[in-house]
Amino acid sequence: CSASEAVESLIERIDAVEGKVHAYLTKTPELARETAKKVDERLAAGEELSPLAGIPIAIKDNICTKGVRTTCASKMLENFVPPYSATVVHKLEHAGTPVLGKLNLDEFAMGSSCENSHFQNTANPHDLGRVPGGSSGGSAAALAAGECTLALGSDTGGSIRQPASYCGVVGLKPTYGSVSRYGLVAFASSLDQIGPMGRSVEDVALLYEAIRGMDERDLTSAQREYEPLHGQLDGGVRGMRLGVPEEYFGPGVEDEVKEAVRAQIGELERSGAVIVPVSLPSTGYALSAYYIISSAEASSNLARYDGVKYGYRSENGSSLEELYLNTRSEGFGDEVKRRIMLGTFVLSSGYFDAYYKRAKILQGRIGQEFASAFDACDAILTPTAPDTAFRFGEHTADPLKMYASDICTVTVNIAGLPAVSVPCGKDKNGLPIGMQIIGRKFSEKTILTVAKAVE
Ligand code: GLN
Repeated sequence: CSASEAVESLIERIDAVEGKVHAYLTKTPELARETAKKVDERLAAGEELSPLAGIPIAIKDNICTKGVRTTCASKMLENFVPPYSATVVHKLEHAGTPVLGKLNLDEFAMGSSCENSHFQNTANPHDLGRVPGGSSGGSAAALAAGECTLALGSDTGGSIRQPASYCGVVGLKPTYGSVSRYGLVAFASSLDQIGPMGRSVEDVALLYEAIRGMDERDLTSAQREYEPLHGQLDGGVRGMRLGVPEEYFGPGVEDEVKEAVRAQIGELERSGAVIVPVSLPSTGYALSAYYIISSAEASSNLARYDGVKYGYRSENGSSLEELYLNTRSEGFGDEVKRRIMLGTFVLSSGYFDAYYKRAKILQGRIGQEFASAFDACDAILTPTAPDTAFRFGEHTADPLKMYASDICTVTVNIAGLPAVSVPCGKDKNGLPIGMQIIGRKFSEKTILTVAKAVE
């Protein structure tokens, strides 16, 4: 069908289901129509276009879109319209990808259920009484509900992979440095990566090819030649060495999840993969290290929201100090405040050595353990999340319970590695279970090949 027809059918779909799913914070149907029209005209004129031309996408609302409100699901940025677009958004524009709108998330990408959004709860399309995961829950839910064809998310500690797992879609957290972070609102800059989400591995590969690459506006972006992916992922797993770390199948992981992932590992073995046990002994400390490092960076990154430069400004206060205080007290939600307090605490002179420094030492050790594991295997297989989608409110009273959702994903960000989540079964309630495939830096082709064999 034409790009315009694709866009119209998705706009209809959004109108039909959005009242139940609540994935979008801002819809941009006119923008999508305009792009689609241009694509159709260029195709009619016989122009050769990008494979992404005319394929409708929606974007997590912490990625800046020029002229379109970018809220980070925070009261602080409720009316913020960025004067520039993220590099990834420019790339999509260049490819002729119609943008349907901006998707819900946990405030500033802090959370695992989307319940920390200031604006709305997004429902899991597989069971409307359950969360879609987070923080890219809007992206995963919109895909699962058929409200977009592709989506962009961001992943600091699992925010692409865990919601992909909960909603039964595919999500890739790329190697740190392969996708420009310019225009991604910073949470923890040393861990954040934008990544592609879709309903199939090929879709995700296609989107990743379009957004990766060196960007001089992001000094952490890598300069290198990338190999083609789309249509190149059918090599299969015969002869591949796939590592299975026992630490990811411990008591914190639900039995049904372990069984589904183990069954899938059995299938891969039958397809010719060599399964090797590997050991990642520091995994048990990774969650603590992650919440220390990410909160430390967040406390610094979020200092910019002071009511003076841009964003929300409190009406109350008779001095500059009071203006700062009231703006931040009123503009940030509880979870964001919790992270800022934790971050400033672990960076304070009295506690720096005891917490932040030790977390950074652990980060080095986790990286080394992965490096030795990859001496013995080409990719590592684990569950993506310890559980399946939980009910609204089930974990909100206890932040530690919510943080436990990330036990299988945070190590990947700590080590800067790529990992993909792909559906690998369902639990007894019919809820999707995801398998995570972790690779060496820049080995996206390998992990997507394994994912395609699982799909
Ligand atoms: N759930 C994790 C957190 O709350 C991960 C978030 C993310 O990857 N953005 O920090």
